Amino acid sequence: MTRPGTQAVPIQGADDSWYIPYTGLDPEDIRRKLIDLAVSVRLNAYAPYSGILVGATIHSAEGGIYTGCNCETVTLTQTLHAEDNARGSMIAEGDRKIVQVAVAVAPHGEHFDLERTPPMPESLTIRDFPPSCGQCLQIILEHTGNDPEVELIFVTTDGGVYTTTMATALPMPFMIDLPGAQAPEAPEAPA
Ligand SMILES: [Zn+2]
Repeated sequence: MTRPGTQAVPIQGADDSWYIPYTGLDPEDIRRKLIDLAVSVRLNAYAPYSGILVGATIHSAEGGIYTGCNCETVTLTQTLHAEDNARGSMIAEGDRKIVQVAVAVAPHGEHFDLERTPPMPESLTIRDFPPSCGQCLQIILEHTGNDPEVELIFVTTDGGVYTTTMATALPMPFMIDLPGAQAPEAPEAPA
């Protein structure tokens, strides 16, 4: 069994490769796969203190799919968030650019019913779904290449799927003109 969060999760692509050709699959199928993986990796979360289990999936421009869950520490301040965990897996595999992120958040003991498609609330508020925190949005931004249209997908336990963009979720990101900023280096080539 592939252990989520430690390596690229294979998705059946047109050429049976580990990496999906981004343009080769139906965008809705990709979105559904990102959600399914976020929901399943959430169950591996280590959250004995908050009891809030979080799963996240990153889809990279290179075609990789990476998962992560939250990992708490008794010091509380050393907690690793799911999005950052998935980002670490992406970096370790050599990918650098994020095009989509899916996040599933719910307390321990709650389950996601993805078969349901509840009607959208008439006026959506932040209380209708748990979004990524500001720190994770800034971390995601690091790998968007300043693309404001990078998609964030949030799923709720009743099967609701809410999508937004980085520009909407993080309208005032921290930006500074440091060498290398927003131009993530490709992995070092082997000697
Ligand atoms: Zn976070």
